[in-house]
Amino acid sequence: MNGKTVMACIEAAHSTLKEHTDEIAALDQQIGDGDHIFNLLRGVDALFAMRADIEAALIGPALDLAASKLLSTVGGSSGPLFFSLLHGMAKAAGDAETMSVEGAAQMFAAGVDAVTQRGKAGIGSKTMMDVLIPVASRFVELADSKAAPETVLDALPLIAEEGMLATRDMLATKGRASFLGERARGHIDPGARSSQLMIGAVCARLAQDRE
Ligand code: ADP
Ligand code: MG
Repeated sequence: MNGKTVMACIEAAHSTLKEHTDEIAALDQQIGDGDHIFNLLRGVDALFAMRADIEAALIGPALDLAASKLLSTVGGSSGPLFFSLLHGMAKAAGDAETMSVEGAAQMFAAGVDAVTQRGKAGIGSKTMMDVLIPVASRFVELADSKAAPETVLDALPLIAEEGMLATRDMLATKGRASFLGERARGHIDPGARSSQLMIGAVCARLAQDRE
């Protein structure tokens, strides 16, 4: 795993966000201000412009390059949160040249911890954390039980989907949707949907690259 893998994951995230742009925009129009997907796409597009630098770096530095770029391009609440995710992962990766399942799980969990510290949202607050936290926990559990990479890549998208769907019936306690009270209920959180889609696409891409 190196900068080329990081770039492949960015590409996978980009295509699924493109494919689901209208859907995520509609979710965000219902309980947010409608800009979430466009913020994210602006950030991911900016990452394409630095492909060569990302691909040439080791995984940690590649994630850090991407993190800083997202911070300066995404904006909204989610810009700093995605920065924290990738920066937290980068710090955990350090200057590693290869990545075991265990290392990858610790790295992802460290990123999710950093997002939690920044956004102060836990499970049940109807945000992207309803996807990120359960995925990180399951990832660490699977790694601890010495699961094969294929098993992990199959399992995590299902956990992400469950977490995303669970946001539908929640009241929001963080972010813009928290101002809506009961009116937020019945709508999936756009950030949970975008995170779930990206996790699904990244896992599918990594699984495909292993074949
Ligand atoms: P804004 O709310 O500033 O318009 P975005 O549109 O970029 O920000 O992102 C909205 C998404 O950010 C929400 O759907 C939610 O998933 C996520 N979010 C908002 N606040 C938080 C928070 N404190 N912690 C984690 N995620 C959050
Ligand atoms: Mg918004």
